[in-house]
Amino acid sequence: MMKRLLAPAILALCVAWPAGAEIVADIVGQIPRQAHSYAQVMAALQELHATPRVDCWSIGTTHQGRTVAMAVVHDADSDPRELRKIMIIARQHGNEPAGTEAAMALLRHFAAGEGRAEVALLRRVALLIIPMANPDGAAASRRGNGRGVDLNRDWAALSQPETRAIEGAFLDWRPDVVIDLHELPASSSKPSYQENFVETIGTHAALPAALSGSCGRTSAQISVWMKRYDIPLNCYYDTPGDDTRLCHRHFGLGHQVPSYLFESKTGRGRSLPERAAYHVLGMLVIANQLAYHHDEFAPRVQMAATPGPAPGDSREAAVAPEAPPPPAPLAVTLGDPCADEEREGRTLLWAEIAGDEDFAYLTFEINGRVLVLTNRAPWQYSLDPTICPEGPVEIAARAYDASGRCIAADRRTLTIVAPGANLGQ
Ligand SMILES: [Zn+2]
Repeated sequence: MMKRLLAPAILALCVAWPAGAEIVADIVGQIPRQAHSYAQVMAALQELHATPRVDCWSIGTTHQGRTVAMAVVHDADSDPRELRKIMIIARQHGNEPAGTEAAMALLRHFAAGEGRAEVALLRRVALLIIPMANPDGAAASRRGNGRGVDLNRDWAALSQPETRAIEGAFLDWRPDVVIDLHELPASSSKPSYQENFVETIGTHAALPAALSGSCGRTSAQISVWMKRYDIPLNCYYDTPGDDTRLCHRHFGLGHQVPSYLFESKTGRGRSLPERAAYHVLGMLVIANQLAYHHDEFAPRVQMAATPGPAPGDSREAAVAPEAPPPPAPLAVTLGDPCADEEREGRTLLWAEIAGDEDFAYLTFEINGRVLVLTNRAPWQYSLDPTICPEGPVEIAARAYDASGRCIAADRRTLTIVAPGANLGQ
């Protein structure tokens, strides 16, 4: 019953709200084609600070004397510390402006939005937004900070004023979720990262089950909604050998908070608003999960149903000559794993899909642990064999519908041998 009551809230936020407007499009429509400068971000924050729902202040100062600012947007009648909280960290890399634009547009929208979905969301969730985590890098349009340090490799050491400022804000506010927004260079040397992706701490063995469950449900919802918006996405779950100097792992593994790294693919004529749209949709889905599904521990999330036909449509349907044939059922077939020719030492897991039944995303799993959720072909995953247990492992590929129901799967038992080879079955 609870789920049935809550489900429309997701639909209202992400698809349509009563006035007929569309929230994602509204927010993205505010994004300029030219990125904000540091001075423009600061001026905008000053302006927003004067409005009832927004508070802005400095959380630190960079090597070159610029301000690391944080804005909190919340229901004006609520104490934001009493609400659930999402911390959004944008542009640790100064040459990746899409996160700043997405965060500023989200902030502006929720600062003023009077739609039912916005008002309801802000009664539950406060957005803690750090729109420009690396102002010195942004001013110079370069990756590192004022001393050339890559901030997203500094989270173990916390040696820089920017990372220390954000850590301090985290400890002060104790957010329930952390989102870190980046852009993936068009010339990325990582062949398995050819598209937008999310990385999350997911099913890491060091995590409590409730935390893994929360990340799992949320990443499934991100995949579902990205597919609905026709946005390609791979959602990778961190594995034990991954670099722990990264922000989302610091907050995820260190502070044990669900944490998501978003990388928006650049290049191929993708404009700044298009790249930022990916971030905007991702932030909205996570905000909804936190607002309406935070306390669920079941592995599946009940999604809102697709709206039925409007009353006027029923006559038309009644005179339609025949219903179209049902779609051919989906079938997933795992191929033989092979050496990944583009990444040395890796094994390529791949699957073929037959049938035309619709599905939301496909997972690759080892011994029941999800490695990736992907919503767009090619259906493959570049596996690091060193993360595999020794001996036989069960590899599975599973297709899920939007409600989280597995509708087709294939699995096989293999022994994966590094590098890039497999033996036996
Ligand atoms: Zn980055």
